[in-house]
Amino acid sequence: MSATRPHLMIVGGGITGLSAAFYLKKRLESDGVDARITIVEKSTTFGGKIHTLERDGFVIEKGPDSVLARKRPTIDLARELGLLGELTGTNPKAKKTYIVRQGKMHRMPPGLVLGIPTQMTPFMKTGLISPLGKARAALDLLKPKRELTTDESLGRFLERRLGKEVLERIVEPLLAGIYAGDTFKLSLKATFPQFQSMEQKHRSLILGMMASRKNSTEENAHVPAEIRGSAFVTFKKGLQTLVNGLLGALDGVDLRSGVGVTAIREAAGEQTEVMFEDGHTEIVDGVIITTQTFQAAQVLSHVPAAADLKQIEYISVANVIMAFDRKDIPFELDASGFLVPRNEGRTITACTWTSAKWLHTAPDGKALLRCYIGRAGQQEWLQWNDEQLVDKARQDLAELLGLHAVPLFTEVTRLPKSMPQYPVGHLEQVARFRENLAKQMPGVWVTGAGFHGVGIPDCIRQGQEAAFQLANDVLS
Ligand code: FAD
Repeated sequence: MSATRPHLMIVGGGITGLSAAFYLKKRLESDGVDARITIVEKSTTFGGKIHTLERDGFVIEKGPDSVLARKRPTIDLARELGLLGELTGTNPKAKKTYIVRQGKMHRMPPGLVLGIPTQMTPFMKTGLISPLGKARAALDLLKPKRELTTDESLGRFLERRLGKEVLERIVEPLLAGIYAGDTFKLSLKATFPQFQSMEQKHRSLILGMMASRKNSTEENAHVPAEIRGSAFVTFKKGLQTLVNGLLGALDGVDLRSGVGVTAIREAAGEQTEVMFEDGHTEIVDGVIITTQTFQAAQVLSHVPAAADLKQIEYISVANVIMAFDRKDIPFELDASGFLVPRNEGRTITACTWTSAKWLHTAPDGKALLRCYIGRAGQQEWLQWNDEQLVDKARQDLAELLGLHAVPLFTEVTRLPKSMPQYPVGHLEQVARFRENLAKQMPGVWVTGAGFHGVGIPDCIRQGQEAAFQLANDVLS
């Protein structure tokens, strides 16, 4: 550590990096430590994947659109930033979701939580699953638990508990929205550890989910009362509110955008040398890297520990947002949207009826739809241009919903290599990476969506944890 004022650097200005800076500044101030904090962001704007666009009175999310209310970090951060009053919940009149089955819309049976039935009557009545498939799912109530508690794939676990039909027709399309992944490659322990705990504790996944549902009201006690009934929340002017709130709270922090970090190396005296795209270098006293893991691996390419980071694959996704005159939509917007299972052979993987789900997103008389494209094994879209993406999404909407109207406008967002895929054994791999990094590059932490959770609340938590580790190091 330098004898003068310590200089701490955060690489990447997405939600993880901004949260890290916020909690680092707060912690150092409360401990009376005078340190210089810098955030370096490669692109010209902060926020990373979070990007809200306001166009013609519409509030358009080009990246994430909301956060899980149950997870505390976003609500806690909003409270600290004075933004609680800006939060909003989903439209209670559009709680339904549809799933496509053989080209037709089926209502997702009420009572499904993450695709797991918690009410048996609606599940037994759904046309989405065959009688045999339902009987197979109900076997979960009788099947013994797996004795081994080692990691396995999410797909294998769900197929083992609920059978192939429920996995393919309900759970996989639902979870595709979070990971866009191949469930047979994703780690159960790293994605849904609660499923494994439920099996261990209750033997049956269905019984475990039913028991956890009973506690869900208490789980949301931290959410403002007006929106407590909503599973997801966002900000009335979009998630950019959170990014702007963080930037506003970072007075005194050196915010640098439009310049990337190319390499980070050890320097003399327990310090670290950071190299920038423009060729200059700086010596700092601690670094938190919050980029995607393959980018961190590049920055740390000379560090043997970084080889583990290269194992984490990323899937590319895109979305096509379309604005319409409400009168041109030939069906009732009575749901949050629909999901498309893989074997339906469509381009789109889901469509959110954004203006029905979030009432603040469209002006009166208008409607906003968002189609998702791309998941593991469906990456051909990378060869298509924006016009082709719009055409293919519109073709699916025409065939599935009879929607032939020409949109008022479209917005295409391409997010190549944006969805980290936690492989089986991911947690052990991360632990090994961190242990080795601490030996090979003390003073450098790497965190973010590629590690312990992709959701915004998980990223905020991880940014905060890294900030506290770095602060402890500075204070020691
Ligand atoms: P990023 O946002 O990727 O930020 C990393 C930053 O590092 C970037 O700004 C990048 O430019 C910068 N960078 C990269 N290399 C360098 C370098 N060499 N030097 C300096 N800077 C560099 N989560 C939810 O909770 N709710 C949702 O609704 C939701 N929807 C999603 C929809 C999509 C389409 C996607 C892709 C993700 C979604 N997620 C959602 C997940 C969530 O948005 C992300 O996991 C989260 O925003 C990642 O934040 P981050 O800060 O870790 O990474």
